[in-house]
Amino acid sequence: MPKVLRIKQTLVLPPTDKTISAAARLIRRGGLVAFPTETVYGLGAAATERRAVTRIFVAKGRPADNPLIVHVANLDQVKEVTSSLPGCALELMRHFWPGPLSLVLPRSAALPREVSAGLPTVAVRMPAHPVALSLIRAAGVPIAAPSANRSGRPSPTELRHVLEDLAGRIEAVIDGGFCRMGVESTVLDLSGSRPVILRPGGITREQLEAALGTEIYEGRGEKASLSPAPGWQYRHYAPRAPLILITGPRARREAMIRALASAYRRRGLKIGVLRASPGPAGVRQMAKDLFPALRRFDAQNVDLILAEGISPQGLGNTVMNRLRQAAARIIRV
Ligand code: AMP
Ligand code: MG
Repeated sequence: MPKVLRIKQTLVLPPTDKTISAAARLIRRGGLVAFPTETVYGLGAAATERRAVTRIFVAKGRPADNPLIVHVANLDQVKEVTSSLPGCALELMRHFWPGPLSLVLPRSAALPREVSAGLPTVAVRMPAHPVALSLIRAAGVPIAAPSANRSGRPSPTELRHVLEDLAGRIEAVIDGGFCRMGVESTVLDLSGSRPVILRPGGITREQLEAALGTEIYEGRGEKASLSPAPGWQYRHYAPRAPLILITGPRARREAMIRALASAYRRRGLKIGVLRASPGPAGVRQMAKDLFPALRRFDAQNVDLILAEGISPQGLGNTVMNRLRQAAARIIRV
């Protein structure tokens, strides 16, 4: 077995068959193990064990009324944690699983109520990452896993971020390098009379509408009004420095960013600037670099972050959702 590091009592494991088996044993014994997924790193515990699930909330400093997403590796595990499956759920699983789509479904009575913060529903997803899937299979239980950051901090997209926030508070972390998407899963509520997006994420509204052939409503986003997702009253993704989000037509927002940056620099402030390159590749890159950039600005001790808003279409909607959550102020030009 390759050399295994320990940082403040937390095991840092390379992703091998042996270490994944060892991590799965930790999970089965009620331990906490952070692991890579295609979206961000998750902080996992056996979803069926009340004490293990409670430890997640303690390690993260997460309010108990913010429900967790349960990660599964097969349909049997979905059936284990839910009490019924509408036809459209199966359709969406066929289309998008494994992948960044969490489905909110009626919860099985077998699941500890802490997992979903006492709600009658549970969010379930099958991650598209070989390490995550192997870990869930080896553990033999569904794994409850929120993002592996301290509550309120930007989500972790590489090992270093997990250790910054959780070293010494969890048993182990499996290193899977950088997360491919960089933003979390879409949370889609299927427990009501029509599907509602509670949190935009890696699968876009446009993709869901194409798969189901119906219009899909969004509970948050540009016109955030409908049923916000539970837990979203809390501050999210916040870097230490205040972030000002500048939205509007490209030329005007760029001019505003330049003007603000030079005005603040003249006052002696250290400014971090977050910009988007045009086009879909630029949006994907911004999604991937958003959380790492916020953590970089923290490490550089900037006084203020100026972030460029982008058009809220497709994945751009997800990026804008996270930026709005992180923002102390939004300026429309
Ligand atoms: P995280 O895993 O930290 O990315 O957060 C998971 C988010 O998924 C929560 O903050 C909720 O907004 C949402 N979520 C999880 N379970 C449910 C549920 N049963 N009903 C509605 N939303 C949920
Ligand atoms: Mg989170």
